[in-house]
Amino acid sequence: MIKNLLRVLISGLMLTTQLFLASKTAAENQKEAGYIRARADMVENQLIARGIKDKRVLRAMRKVERHKFLPPQLRVLAYTDRPLPIGCGQTISQPYIVALMTQLLELDGHEKILEIGTGSGYQAAILAEICSHVYTIEILESLTSDARDLLKELGYTNISVKCGDGFLGWEEYAPYDAIIVTCAPTEVPQPLLEQLKEGAKLVIPVGEYYQELKLIEKIDGQIRIKNVIPVRFVPMLRR
Ligand code: SAH
Repeated sequence: MIKNLLRVLISGLMLTTQLFLASKTAAENQKEAGYIRARADMVENQLIARGIKDKRVLRAMRKVERHKFLPPQLRVLAYTDRPLPIGCGQTISQPYIVALMTQLLELDGHEKILEIGTGSGYQAAILAEICSHVYTIEILESLTSDARDLLKELGYTNISVKCGDGFLGWEEYAPYDAIIVTCAPTEVPQPLLEQLKEGAKLVIPVGEYYQELKLIEKIDGQIRIKNVIPVRFVPMLRR
């Protein structure tokens, strides 16, 4: 009698747990599907509509889960058309700016790239989807370790993250096929120009309050600079 009662109780409990887990998975699946839709809309309406054409860039922007690079309370805003805070007074750039800067580098997939300003690691992940290796430098210790952990958890094996002053570049692996800077110095740092390969491109915002996104190319040892668009990035800090 007691045995039967126990058996009924246990199977009831198991059923409730199963139902609970099933509804949790269903809710998570729904949330996941929402993110996929939002990401596809972002690519259509914010990128393609504004002239981003590079197939590699569009593929990477469609694939990398931007919400995973944000604090949990901000994930619902992950695919909106704006920069968002990532802690320590820093921001993850607007998706369009990430795509534009990446497109400006005209990557063919074999490059070794240097990024200054790892932040959340999102731009590094986009680059890593396209090129062969990304070396990225972040000046703030806590952002460096969070980004390193997240990129590892997401399975990236072609990104090296280091804490340091990006103004000096990363001499050890220079010269680079492309350099991208995601914080704004008041002038283009000389070490970055020196660490750029012949024929390679550097994309960098320059200025204080008013900043200009610049596309720099090293041709026959000469530096050629083009202004792209006015932008607003966090300042490049110095150690
Ligand atoms: N690429 C980032 C955006 C980061 S915002 C992303 O995808 O999320 C710019 C970052 O540059 C900030 O995290 C800031 O701490 C970092 N930074 C500022 N000055 C720096 C410097 N001198 N060297 C390296 N990183 C710097």
